[in-house]
Amino acid sequence: MLRLALLIVLFALAARAFWRLVDGVVDGFTGRARRGTVPQRSVSMVRDPVCGTYVIPDRALAVGDASQQVFFCSSRCRDKYRAKTA
Ligand SMILES: [Zn+2]
Repeated sequence: MLRLALLIVLFALAARAFWRLVDGVVDGFTGRARRGTVPQRSVSMVRDPVCGTYVIPDRALAVGDASQQVFFCSSRCRDKYRAKTA
């Protein structure tokens, strides 16, 4: 009877390890799939003319009007640009 209980425990542990492995494989697969879709989503980047860093316009500091906007990574670069063009 004790041996049967031990067998059941061993089986339960094995089953748990198996499902953990399956979860890991599924996670790895979906993770790869998610990573694979990232490059397809194109975000237009603009170049900071002061330091040359590429920035996302939505998150960047902008100077100028709608027709001619210049974007900067930080207020430091923006101030440098203003000092140069003023
Ligand atoms: Zn910059």
